[in-house]
Amino acid sequence: MAEVDVIVLGAGIVGVTTALNLRQHGASVALIDRAHPGDGTSGANAGIIAGNGFCPAQIPSGAAVWLDIALKQSCAFSFDVSTLLHLVPWIRSYLAHSGPQALQSYVRAMAPLRAQARAEHRRLARLANAERFYRKSGWLHLHRSEASLARAERERHYARIYGIDYQTLRGGEMHEVEPALRSDAFFGVYWPECDSISNPGGLTESLWREFIQGGGIYLNGDAGRLEQRRSRWILATPRTELRAPQVVAALGQATAAFAARFEESFPIALGRGYGRHFRPGSGVTLSRPVTDMDHGFTLTPMEQGIRLTTGIEIVGEDALANPQILHRARKRASDVFPLGQDLPLAGLMGSRDCLPDSLPVVGPSSKHRGLWYNFGYCGAGMALGPVCSRLIADRLAGAPPKRDADALLPLRFS
Ligand SMILES: Cc1cc2nc3c(=O)[nH]c(=O)nc-3n(C[C@H](O)[C@H](O)[C@H](O)COP(=O)(O)OP(=O)(O)OC[C@H]3O[C@@H](n4cnc5c(N)ncnc54)[C@H](O)[C@@H]3O)c2cc1C
Repeated sequence: MAEVDVIVLGAGIVGVTTALNLRQHGASVALIDRAHPGDGTSGANAGIIAGNGFCPAQIPSGAAVWLDIALKQSCAFSFDVSTLLHLVPWIRSYLAHSGPQALQSYVRAMAPLRAQARAEHRRLARLANAERFYRKSGWLHLHRSEASLARAERERHYARIYGIDYQTLRGGEMHEVEPALRSDAFFGVYWPECDSISNPGGLTESLWREFIQGGGIYLNGDAGRLEQRRSRWILATPRTELRAPQVVAALGQATAAFAARFEESFPIALGRGYGRHFRPGSGVTLSRPVTDMDHGFTLTPMEQGIRLTTGIEIVGEDALANPQILHRARKRASDVFPLGQDLPLAGLMGSRDCLPDSLPVVGPSSKHRGLWYNFGYCGAGMALGPVCSRLIADRLAGAPPKRDADALLPLRFS
């Protein structure tokens, strides 16, 4: 049996950085996962640490886009009907959070997190000697029409308010940023205040190694076996039984199901995405992530090759993979950049865990003493996981709650 101060459940970017921050405060910490650290969604994303991101993911609009969706030709948004019917209450709640006032609250909660995200990553990277994974690359958004560029004006509006730089590019100007782009017909928005990660799974693994070298305990185990006995949390793992007064659940897409066991309900929708690596076409390179805002895919230069990641597929957690979505994205991506052969690496799959207000759940359970939640990052956990993990670690170390973070508390769903 081992007694620790905190058990952290889940070793994705969120759990690993929570555990690392707690160790920095001197707490004894056991980190648990049933798979290898970084092998979940944290290893399968586009690796963008965005300084912008003021508007939550939108349900797509535009007749052409919906025709694509209806004909099952979209790689930006797709769904399986039975999951969507199941999600009707979630969709109602999401729509209720889509008005101007809700957007203001979202922006007020997100802006301070976005402002600290890159610095917090770099701080942990220095600690773990993992700076090689970071690039000051910026991020390029592509729009295939002027109407599409206009639909994204809200994001630029808030960027101006919060002093985040961007440049609108037309025609040949885009080639100055990314010479290998195929078309002059697109409209671009270049966001220089974004970093990108050259191997998100590798970075998560490096931070995990730093946690272990700093005296943290890592055990393979199943969070589903956690029990509460009086003021103690107990987890039986194949190696030993762990006991702690505090537990942080950072299980990504699996957190809501975990919480249900403790009679806490979080309305969650999963937006699955797929990924694959390609060689660049001969003689060309890509220097930064490029997102096609109309077709929802992103091309990111990674250590492994050019990573193509897809948009949102609304499906249940256990639904079979749909290779057609990646196939469609591959076709659309060749309008943007000359991709070469696909590399013989395993395909990627991950899920964005989204609450209807599009904000993560970060803070103490409103029902159980000593239980904390850190999940629900939707499409932004790689960027915001570290900064929010620090909020939790600071609180567990005795710091007073930050008013800034009130909007993230689990209490809002009780
Ligand atoms: C296609 C795609 C592209 C994305 N691009 C970006 C991007 O560019 N920038 C960005 O900021 N975000 C991006 N995201 C979102 C980001 O990847 C996620 O928000 C982030 O990885 C979530 O991290 P996590 O640690 O919460 O979850 P995960 O990485 O999924 O980690 C959860 C861990 O919990 C473990 N676990 C689950 N259940 C149990 C159990 N019962 N017992 C033990 N362990 C368990 C899993 O094995 C896993 O290791 C993207 C997501 C997708 C799908």
